[in-house]
Amino acid sequence: MKRDMICIICPRGCSLCADIQGENVTVTGNACPKGQEYAINECTNPVRTVTATVRVSNRYNTMASVKTLTPVAKDKMMEVMNILRQTQIQAPAKIGDVVLADVCGSAIVITKEIL
Ligand code: SF4
Repeated sequence: MKRDMICIICPRGCSLCADIQGENVTVTGNACPKGQEYAINECTNPVRTVTATVRVSNRYNTMASVKTLTPVAKDKMMEVMNILRQTQIQAPAKIGDVVLADVCGSAIVITKEIL
């Protein structure tokens, strides 16, 4: 099976073609080794950094921006979003504060200071 994709590792945006034969993935179109690594990961274990907002319970109409500290499996993204939808924090909070220690294998951290 062949799969076409754009490498998003750098602005050059190489057009990659991954030829998947069982466990083997052959990548063409990459201008550097990072593209090969990206394509293989996309075909075998795609991961994403999830960014979202959570409610600030002690501030009127305020949301705090958060993200996963490390990428999570792509098929776990909705699970992460459902947990964050029910999550509230208390102000003040600073960048890097851990909101949740382990959601689908990653911590959730604050990305914007809330005074
Ligand atoms: S393959 Fe290399 S040069 Fe091409 S977009 Fe990816 S990182 Fe950039």
